[in-house]
Amino acid sequence: MTMALRPLLVGNWKMHGDGRNLPIIAAIGEAAQRHPGVDVALCLPATLIDRARDACPGLTIGGQDCHAEPSGAHTGDISALMLREAGASLVLLGHSERRRDHHEGDALIAAKVRAARAAGLDVVLCVGETAEDHAAGRSADVVREQLTRSLAGANGPGIAIAYEPVWAIGGDRTPEPTEVEMMAGLIRDTVSGVRILYGGSVTPDNGAALFEQGGIDGFLVGRQSLDAGAFKAILTLM
Ligand code: PGA
Repeated sequence: MTMALRPLLVGNWKMHGDGRNLPIIAAIGEAAQRHPGVDVALCLPATLIDRARDACPGLTIGGQDCHAEPSGAHTGDISALMLREAGASLVLLGHSERRRDHHEGDALIAAKVRAARAAGLDVVLCVGETAEDHAAGRSADVVREQLTRSLAGANGPGIAIAYEPVWAIGGDRTPEPTEVEMMAGLIRDTVSGVRILYGGSVTPDNGAALFEQGGIDGFLVGRQSLDAGAFKAILTLM
């Protein structure tokens, strides 16, 4: 029998937000305290992490990437230890925008997963197929391969896997809940003891069906996490 895992809701602010948005973070922190049955995290731009930590001690703060090495001559990069020191306890890795914009491949992502775990950070690893792979019926193969190669054996409660079909991010299309359920089953069969999130155009309107029928433990939410009201509405579905 599979043990029910605590639901996890993660917001991803991407390259949005500055000090003027701290009240949104505070509002999300208050909502999280009113829903103690759900773990709530916000992955923020690195510039906001320490201020968010000070403003919302109850909220889990995450970064959006880290370097694979603990320190070194890597201009513009940030290490897992630096994120931790600033107040993050989690990091998103392997997001499709990193894979696309920075040509990150699975081997590099696996090295980042190891670095993050060594620094004591939880990891939300993103996997998902492109529109082309989806149309060709290759989704399961692509996701299985990304999981195997980019996790490199990491598993357990410090890891969550976000299934984010690339074609569903940033638009208004989502897979059917049955499709999400199938992919969640595949992820569960491939990695043990991890929480499974769905991400890609989650809204308060489509969230209930995805959460109830998708066989998932939570969501990774982009745009709707920049709106405290919408994010809170998604939280109340869980
Ligand atoms: P979206 O982004 O919710 O705006 O589609 C999700 C993500 O990229 O994590």
